[in-house]
Amino acid sequence: MDSNLPKILGFEDARAVVEDHAAKLRPHDTEQVELLQAVGRVLAEPIYADRDFPPFPRAARDGFAVRAADVARVPAQLNVIGEIKAGAAPNQVPTMVADGEAVAIMTGAPAPAGADAIVMVEYTRREGNRIEILRSIAAGNNIVPQGSEAQRGDLLISAGKRFDEAAIAIAASVGRTRLKVYRRTKVAILATGDEIVGVDEQLGPTQIRNSNTYSLSAQVMQAGAEPVPLPVARDEVAHLRTLIEAGLESDLLLLAGGVSMGEYDLVEQVLAQLGAKFFFTGAQIQPGRPIVFGRVRDKYFFGLPGNPVSTMVTFELFVRPLLEALMGLNAQKLIFLHAKLTKDIRTKTGLMRFLPAILSGEFERAEVELAGWHGSGDIATVARANCYLVVPPDREHIPAGEWVPVLLR
Ligand code: AMP
Ligand code: MG
Repeated sequence: MDSNLPKILGFEDARAVVEDHAAKLRPHDTEQVELLQAVGRVLAEPIYADRDFPPFPRAARDGFAVRAADVARVPAQLNVIGEIKAGAAPNQVPTMVADGEAVAIMTGAPAPAGADAIVMVEYTRREGNRIEILRSIAAGNNIVPQGSEAQRGDLLISAGKRFDEAAIAIAASVGRTRLKVYRRTKVAILATGDEIVGVDEQLGPTQIRNSNTYSLSAQVMQAGAEPVPLPVARDEVAHLRTLIEAGLESDLLLLAGGVSMGEYDLVEQVLAQLGAKFFFTGAQIQPGRPIVFGRVRDKYFFGLPGNPVSTMVTFELFVRPLLEALMGLNAQKLIFLHAKLTKDIRTKTGLMRFLPAILSGEFERAEVELAGWHGSGDIATVARANCYLVVPPDREHIPAGEWVPVLLR
């Protein structure tokens, strides 16, 4: 069978095709960056614990380190033999608690040997070197055992994780000032269309300002990659071809527009001339039905529909997983959350729909309603919306009150 015949897939099948390709990708070169420059980047090496976490039995409360057996019956009287504050040098503090003894201790300080619990200061009454314990406590309470969170040499973060605040905290905790991350992925962005003009150009009455180059650049940047915007391609084979070839210098090529059935929708034709293999040429979704995914000259490309809402939605649904794999990120399945529909929805069956919607409510009462769009060109509605409501292809009517899937944006 000719691999370049039109291939229209259902949403989940199309997504699976992209995920399969993404799973086979090996990320590219790495570079070293300073700790804070790693935020948002993808870790290219595992990080191991350089010591036990915590490195000593750590007091989790301010209070008195005791032997739980000594305070089994309360009130109990103990002798305070000293004090340990966080960071105190080991040779300046009591290191042993014996029967009938207690040590004043602060959160973050090492619990002395012999003590097996810390009574919170709130449950004590102190008079000079005597302490009265008002509540008994079980052994182990308020002491975090050495190595209980991680042991020296344990894997703390594996390669392929995006550097967020938790990963930064780990890197800082193990004393890493420089980190190996994957080089930023370059994504060429090629808008097409004779009617499309630059944002700062004089505009004729039938012309449209180029918004797709900007929305796609924003999505690429938010994903943590580097957009490489190209000039707008005219609906003309030679010009389009030149710009596609320029785009293939990047790691990934995103085209927008020119993938529908019109006489001047030339994107697929030009890519085919360059020897492209098409994995699919459409998906049963709205918006975004004409989405194209393929590979040419060792680079992946997406031909995204030109309608601005379709461009944005198809980026989220299909480009993101492949881009994240190119960036070295571990694969993440697409997950829909649920919210309670506040107004009935009626649609036609056959397409999986991702309709701009407004998520509201509070805490566990998530509510959603359609933002009321006017089709795939309606960026004003998307700008008001904060999610997409997902309507499965077999639903004609969804009554208010039903919990429906939403895709956050
Ligand atoms: P196309 O996919 O080329 O048929 O374009 C579909 C619709 O999207 C048309 O109304 C175009 O004018 C519009 N469009 C295409 N590209 C852009 C762009 N870069 N910026 C804004 N609108 C666009
Ligand atoms: Mg066009």
